Amino acid sequence: MTRLIFLGPPGAGKGTQAQTLADDLNIPHISTGDILRQALKEQTPLGVKAQSYMDRGELVPDQLVQDMVEERLQQSDTNSGWILDGFPRTVKQAVFLDELLQKLNQDGGKVVNLDVPDEIVVGRLLGRGRKDDTEEVIRRRLEVYRSETAPLIDYYRDRQQLLMINGNQSLEEVTTVLKQAIA
Ligand code: ADP
Repeated sequence: MTRLIFLGPPGAGKGTQAQTLADDLNIPHISTGDILRQALKEQTPLGVKAQSYMDRGELVPDQLVQDMVEERLQQSDTNSGWILDGFPRTVKQAVFLDELLQKLNQDGGKVVNLDVPDEIVVGRLLGRGRKDDTEEVIRRRLEVYRSETAPLIDYYRDRQQLLMINGNQSLEEVTTVLKQAIA
């Protein structure tokens, strides 16, 4: 049973690694960014509410994302495990997740932190060309990461759930190290 949370700055390669591992382990890859982008594309009520935050590089309000994750983790495909990518992103979300998992009788699992230096991350994001990847929005997303999300590294280290992975190497190398770390 594998339950993993992926942490790391935008552009760290979380999405790619999470998808590779999820395919390999045959468990769902749950990316809150992907779910929100899909909602935005379909202009669902959730998508409409999230749009202005995402366009500015701000976090979508905790409650919206928490409801989304609560619903997703109750679907039956999560019985065999899951990989969460992009959630939690704030300490409040992490506390919420601890409580949700307790309610669902699941343990907290391991937390993978993909460590990549800032200057590398900016270059990668500018090369990606997503709609919310303009330089100004990228800068804001990194600020938000530092103030809101980076504190989760200590949060999970204190709970002895943290695995540190050097994300500043080739995709294949990261995958190899990651598989060894969670084995
Ligand atoms: P990245 O690939 O840059 O790490 P994501 O695809 O995970 O970004 O998320 C894109 C955007 O979706 C974020 O900038 C944010 O606005 C919103 N978002 C995703 N997950 C969360 C979350 N857990 N809490 C709040 N906002 C979120």
